[in-house]
Amino acid sequence: MEDKQGPILIVGGGIGGVAAALALAQAGRRAQVLEQASEFKEVGAGIQLGPNAFHVFKQLGLTGPVTALTSFPDDLVVMDSLSGEEVTRIAAGEAIRQRYGYPYGLIHRADLHRVLLDACRDHPLVTLSSSVRMTDFEDHGDRVSVHTEDGRQYAGAALIGADGLWSTVRDKIAGDGKPRVSGHIAYRAVLPIAEVPPENRRNAMTLWAGPKNHLVHYPLRCGELFNLVAVFHSDRYEEGWDTYGDTEELLARFKGVVPQVQQMLDKIESWRMWVLCDREPIKEWSKGRVTLLGDAAHPMLQYMAQGACMAMEDAVCLARKVAGHGQDYESAFLDYQQTRYLRTARTQLTARLYGAAYHAAGATRDLRNAYLRGRTAEQFYDGNAWLYHPDEVDKALG
Ligand SMILES: Cc1cc2nc3c(=O)[nH]c(=O)nc-3n(C[C@H](O)[C@H](O)[C@H](O)COP(=O)(O)OP(=O)(O)OC[C@H]3O[C@@H](n4cnc5c(N)ncnc54)[C@H](O)[C@@H]3O)c2cc1C
Repeated sequence: MEDKQGPILIVGGGIGGVAAALALAQAGRRAQVLEQASEFKEVGAGIQLGPNAFHVFKQLGLTGPVTALTSFPDDLVVMDSLSGEEVTRIAAGEAIRQRYGYPYGLIHRADLHRVLLDACRDHPLVTLSSSVRMTDFEDHGDRVSVHTEDGRQYAGAALIGADGLWSTVRDKIAGDGKPRVSGHIAYRAVLPIAEVPPENRRNAMTLWAGPKNHLVHYPLRCGELFNLVAVFHSDRYEEGWDTYGDTEELLARFKGVVPQVQQMLDKIESWRMWVLCDREPIKEWSKGRVTLLGDAAHPMLQYMAQGACMAMEDAVCLARKVAGHGQDYESAFLDYQQTRYLRTARTQLTARLYGAAYHAAGATRDLRNAYLRGRTAEQFYDGNAWLYHPDEVDKALG
């Protein structure tokens, strides 16, 4: 449907922003993505994709290209990094496909982003504009305008803030200050498979849980690469994103872990560092012709591996609501927010609990291990049905 006020403007060309542009275009709407960086790109690290993400890829017609670039782990494994004990192992291959209709996958962020970008580039209704940093916007009631750092102005029918954790759009419509600094720091690195010690070279998503720390590793690009994420507690940093980490501090925070973990940490000479933040869930993130999506709307800690999955679910839901409400963007955005908020709030809050369990010490660690040891695979699948089951995802996509 043609809108005389211009395209739907999307600020931010991360996974959420480009997924939204594609979903809107497929629903017949013109979309323009405004990205501050000089090129559209993602950081060089891995990302886990739950079965709910593959449900979204099917809606976007991207199952083939994403699947071609995805590794599919045989198991999801939790190890205790002080004792070396395997605490739990859940079959993640055929068992997950059968249970939820879609697989569990591991992909390089750059690969996922590229698939979404290529689909946007191929679609005549999407415009991708880089080197455009939004500083302010106005909702005129019947249209919106966006102002940029270098004095340009863009006009559109509506505005979607997909501008991430430090969202400028959110600041103006929700006004709830800065994100919450969790005190958890993530170091990320990617290793060629040849450098991974043979005992760790398994086709699994492996999480080593330790006191106030954990290490996650998994294969990427059909086993060519290994993705590493090391997380520890530190109050040394307040803010910061994508800078180099301090290897000495990392090693000190993982003191006492078994050699299998230590060897993995020792392999990396230079880590990229992230100060992990989230926010309290909010119920309202739309105002008039403006709404939020992805981390701008509901930033979460990464312990459920769902931030990008939720952003892509948002994209499909938003496009469906826009398509269903004609030119009435205000109603479409309220409907979208209503459909999404409890699911995303549950993910935000559950991620915090998972983080506390991964980093447990003393009796809490013993209790975690006893609970996970006694949990059957069936109980795991049932417990995650709200997140992964296709009926639940269908509801969440509106
Ligand atoms: C260590 C770690 C591991 C993770 N692992 C997983 C995982 O396994 N699975 C998963 O699903 N999620 C994971 N996540 C979460 C996931 O990375 C994020 O939730 C997701 O990338 C959010 O996408 P987004 O598009 O909403 O925001 P972003 O990726 O932050 O994109 C925002 C974009 O907006 C642009 N921008 C910002 N301000 C402006 C402006 N003023 N003008 C123009 N452009 C602007 C930015 O340059 C950026 O390109 C992880 C996160 C971390 C930190």
